[in-house]
Amino acid sequence: MNNTLQDFLKGQLDTLHAEHLYKPLTTVTSAVGARVKIAGNDRELINLSSNNYLGLAGDPRLRQAASEAALAIGAGGGAVRPIIGNLQLHDDLEKLIASFKHVEDVLVFQSGFTANAGTIPTITDADDAIITDSLNHASIIDGCRLSKAKRAIYQHCDMDSLEEALKAAMGAKKRLVITDGVFSMDGDVAPLDQICALAERYDAAVMVDDAHGSGVMGANGRGTAYHFGVHQKIDIQLGTLSKAVGVVGGYIAGSSALIDFLKQRARPFLFSTGCPPAVAAACIKGIELMRDEPELSARLWANTKYWQEGLQKLGFDTGVTQTPITPVMIGDEAKTQEAQRLLRDEGILALAIVFPTVGRGKARLRTMPTAAHTQADFDEALAAFERVGKKLGLI
Ligand code: PMP
Repeated sequence: MNNTLQDFLKGQLDTLHAEHLYKPLTTVTSAVGARVKIAGNDRELINLSSNNYLGLAGDPRLRQAASEAALAIGAGGGAVRPIIGNLQLHDDLEKLIASFKHVEDVLVFQSGFTANAGTIPTITDADDAIITDSLNHASIIDGCRLSKAKRAIYQHCDMDSLEEALKAAMGAKKRLVITDGVFSMDGDVAPLDQICALAERYDAAVMVDDAHGSGVMGANGRGTAYHFGVHQKIDIQLGTLSKAVGVVGGYIAGSSALIDFLKQRARPFLFSTGCPPAVAAACIKGIELMRDEPELSARLWANTKYWQEGLQKLGFDTGVTQTPITPVMIGDEAKTQEAQRLLRDEGILALAIVFPTVGRGKARLRTMPTAAHTQADFDEALAAFERVGKKLGLI
């Protein structure tokens, strides 16, 4: 083992511990639902930290679809999709999403992360400009880093700042504005109507990462673009299959030419194997349920209201959220980690989010109500939050 590397790694880890930024991994031994079991502990904890918005991750119908596909077709695709790993189920899933989202075509990637990291550098060149919100997700940031285009960062959801960046980029060959639809750490929503209007004025294409809008925003959870009625004006929509859909994967939805070109040039599609049959089949079932059972997202929103009002009545600061993403703002990293520990002792899983996921001094517990929670779950969690909040002087 190389000592220089080992010393570097140990030094980095020591710093993370000293700055209260070290995040231990929690291992779950049951299906991810409103309650979960943690390794080494038989007690079920109320789970307020998953992105399983509609409760589909543990849904028996998705599990059934996954098992049937694995038994009928196999465990894996056997090759990257452009060689001989393109399964009928991949095509079926893409057609289903395209019809659900009313777009010409869709390409599924291994994850939302790879969809961003694979798409952004593929559709931009050195003489282009990418104009990106300051709080965009890490996978957008990495996609921009992989691109040769010039990058301008505009102030979070600030339309004056976006306009300034667009003006400054008028010398570029193409302009691409990229924003999250729903911001993953604060739960606020990008003003897509205003962004599209500015993009039109400055001849820019628009890409929306709707990882947290899919299944949540718009009719039947079609997404944030549909919530604003601007889906015809968005050139590229990214969705994930790992949150509301309950499985894993990501997709790009847009024009036939966009998808056709990504199939020729997007590197994760060309050089990394596609999802196995079980995943594709479970995703198909998840999208079908989202389309056919609007009561799922109605329950999510009713639960969100109950949970957020409960926290706010107790005096917690839930920031600027407009969606189910419910941060409980604390600020100090050590205090946030302590709150997480105390809540866990009370039977509540509410994970701390610290730097680099959010800025330093902006630590929070990120809580996520889902359609799978009951009022009793929330009441129990609120009682625990009250005790812990008082103990730590948060309320
Ligand atoms: N974009 C955003 C805004 C996200 O929050 C996430 C997940 N954290 C992703 C992309 C990546 O999605 P996936 O987990 O499917 O890779």
